[in-house]
Amino acid sequence: MKVYGDQDADISYISKKVVAILGYGNQGRAQALNLRDSGVSVVVGNIEDSYAQTARSDGFEVYSPAEAAQRGDILALLVPDEVQAEVYATSIAPHIRPRQVLDFAAGYNIHFGLIRPPADVDVIMVAPRMIGVNVRRAFETGGGVPAFVDVWQNASGQGMEIALAFAKGIGATRAGVLPVSFRDEVEIDLFTEQALWPAIVNALVTSYELLVEKGYAPEAVLMELWGTGEAAEIMTEMARTGLFRQMTYHSRTSQYGTLTNFDRVIPGGLKANFETALERIRSGKFAEEFAEEKHRDYPVYQELRKKALAHSLNEVEDKVRNFLDMAFKAGTHQKAAAHS
Ligand code: NDP
Repeated sequence: MKVYGDQDADISYISKKVVAILGYGNQGRAQALNLRDSGVSVVVGNIEDSYAQTARSDGFEVYSPAEAAQRGDILALLVPDEVQAEVYATSIAPHIRPRQVLDFAAGYNIHFGLIRPPADVDVIMVAPRMIGVNVRRAFETGGGVPAFVDVWQNASGQGMEIALAFAKGIGATRAGVLPVSFRDEVEIDLFTEQALWPAIVNALVTSYELLVEKGYAPEAVLMELWGTGEAAEIMTEMARTGLFRQMTYHSRTSQYGTLTNFDRVIPGGLKANFETALERIRSGKFAEEFAEEKHRDYPVYQELRKKALAHSLNEVEDKVRNFLDMAFKAGTHQKAAAHS
């Protein structure tokens, strides 16, 4: 797969245009600041609230989303995925004009047909693979975070050049930009959220419940399983050194135990369940269900969240909060290196 770097992107495709950042949240703030530092004109569209105040104190001109959408040549829709269709319908669709560019940081609304732009605009995606605060932090220290780019609709014939210029403006080409379709971006992202993370969270809760049931102290169990941040350090090392190669930081006992039980703890593996989860995403069933859930003001989400937050492990976390904070601040990488 081609990886685009700085040399593949020409900022002049956007440097004479105005980028309207619609939504000054996680991604909005980081991308607006990075683009401005890259010499691009940026205006912000947000309703009058604390986000708008932050944008103003960062030195941006702030307008209503509808007015910013009219002022911008490139409209970066950076509000949460579940409200994008609404913001598009009320603030963009009534004024959208030929040759404008609609930019997304995720494929969801375009791929599932919740937003259907007219044929005479470009529709691009520049999707950083990182939370907003790190998009900014990496840029400020001379780096960048990787991103996926794609062109859904290429009315101008320059969609990819514009997407790459935008990626350069936010610093992503410094790290590397991969051409990944809107569809693949959203399906991989949802799969991670709906298969991988539930499996990991379930494994943690099941381990906690089992060990506490068997008489181990809840505080000790919680610290060992996730409390110290050691698990996070191991994940970081997986990214840095390699999923299996990072195992050399652990003792022989640890490596032997992990490798011999890899296939044993879930006989038959997770694949069949994961395939079902993927099929639900690919068929559009999840998007339908989630639209209905939003329409009913998230009753299932509220109920499940309430249940999760009522789990007794939350109280144990509160009890050892000081200890957890100190362990986390101290960093656990060295501990991981020497860990049995
Ligand atoms: P945030 O939750 O940080 O967005 C907050 C912004 O959206 C605020 O400006 C808020 O303003 C505005 N907003 C929220 N609700 C509404 C509404 N109903 N009408 C108008 N504006 C609203 O979003 P993210 O930055 O997390 O996500 C933006 C996009 O970036 C999404 O497509 C997401 O998938 C993508 N993305 C996010 C990543 C992340 O790390 N968060 C990583 C990569 C991509 P106000 O409340 O004042 O209206």
